[in-house]
Amino acid sequence: MSQSGLCQHCENAPASHTCPNCGSLVCERHFDRQHGQCASCLGGRQ
Ligand SMILES: [Zn+2]
Ligand SMILES: [Zn+2]
Repeated sequence: MSQSGLCQHCENAPASHTCPNCGSLVCERHFDRQHGQCASCLGGRQ
């Protein structure tokens, strides 16, 4: 329980968004503000 704030997608950048769809914490890069979802929910990859 020491991981709070890291992007669950790349685990390499501080998470700045929470996906309302799956609840994942993701960084700016992996959150699509246009769709309001994380990269996983959007396309599955990248
Ligand atoms: Zn990321
Ligand atoms: Zn998501």
